[in-house]
Amino acid sequence: MIEICAIGGYNEIGRNMTAIKVDEQVIIIDMGLYLPKYIEYTEDEDIKLVPVKKLVDVGAIPDDSVIDDWKDKVVAIIPTHGHLDHLGALPFISNKYNAEILCTPYTKELILAICYDENFKLKNHIKTLSPNSKYKISEIEVEFVHTTHSTPQAVMVALHTKYGTVLYCNDFKFDSFPVLGKKPNFKRLKELGNKGVKLLICDSTRADDPKKTPSENVARQMLKDLLLGIESDEKAIIVTTFSSHIARLKSIIEYGQRINRKVVLLGRSLAKYVKAAERANLVNFSKNTKIVGYSSKVQSALKLLEKNKSKYLLIVTGHQGETKSVLSKIARGDFDFKLDKDDCVIFSCSVIPNQINIDAREHLEELLKHKHVRIFKDIHVSGHAAKEDLRDLINMVKPLNLIPAHCEARMKTAMKELADECSVPHVILMNDGERREIK
Ligand SMILES: [Zn+2]
Repeated sequence: MIEICAIGGYNEIGRNMTAIKVDEQVIIIDMGLYLPKYIEYTEDEDIKLVPVKKLVDVGAIPDDSVIDDWKDKVVAIIPTHGHLDHLGALPFISNKYNAEILCTPYTKELILAICYDENFKLKNHIKTLSPNSKYKISEIEVEFVHTTHSTPQAVMVALHTKYGTVLYCNDFKFDSFPVLGKKPNFKRLKELGNKGVKLLICDSTRADDPKKTPSENVARQMLKDLLLGIESDEKAIIVTTFSSHIARLKSIIEYGQRINRKVVLLGRSLAKYVKAAERANLVNFSKNTKIVGYSSKVQSALKLLEKNKSKYLLIVTGHQGETKSVLSKIARGDFDFKLDKDDCVIFSCSVIPNQINIDAREHLEELLKHKHVRIFKDIHVSGHAAKEDLRDLINMVKPLNLIPAHCEARMKTAMKELADECSVPHVILMNDGERREIK
């Protein structure tokens, strides 16, 4: 018998966690933070030691007490990729389970970096599995199917059981022209569909957006168009983006070099994600750029850079207006780095739509406008599949059952409508904390 427990991420975009029970074995997929609540409570994005009960109470991490009776049956915890809403709760709750963590090499490097930074000790052994490989855990065969997203080595997880295959597809886009790494393994998805998928647990974040999500290459072209096109010879160029978006950083670095500027990355989280990607042999940014992580060193680096602004392109933290980020500190004048009229600030990101981020970004932009800098926004494409990509996935894998995940209510409804259009026999709508047997 297969049972699903929707622990987190079925009523909000965040704190993703799903338990899949196959007879007497349980596999947990994802263990994430709900970042808005986490930041509201800790006033910081960094993972630090906070009482677990408090984090559960404020809704910042999943309430896994709903599987207390399954606790001893858990054999593996699988974070699908390196975003905090998928692995950020690991340091707080994974030690409860006598189970190994199974993830891709880049995701492992990130987990280690987060734990090292904050002195967390994980009891769980971390086993790496490359995308497009399989690993048997007694009765269940786990398969990682390579996909594309806004961070490297994201995988879809197929659990092959004697009752059929469960396919977990949270956080992906179908990018046929990725900037880093290969395109998704469409061939394998079709094979799985032909063999038969019993259940698809599916990212529904953009199920109500009737589009195909553009390739990361489109964001790369937008950056090229901007950086090679603007008149900025004597001015500072400052770019901010998601620290985990290694492909985006690659484009920014390459076009920065194309306009003959030395690229400097400034900020703790940028250093953390880039170093992890380098340890996983995905990129080698250190070769041609300067990376400054510690805030004390950022201060002295900026003082030097200010003397020759037009020789550099700065990549900094602070795309969501985080108050402790490098960009916010520059805007407030906390560093010896003065912004002048017509200096360029480029936001290669979207604003994550929750009130905390919206307010913080608005405040940051006000500060920047005050300095009369040029602001370029939304040089970005999403990392999530939109409605027409989701239709392609459903048609490829032809699931018997579908559970919308990674969603709020309106997205869940949109996914149900789409699944009905695609003639999926059973659509199961779940809320956080609920369990369901898959017939
Ligand atoms: Zn993600």
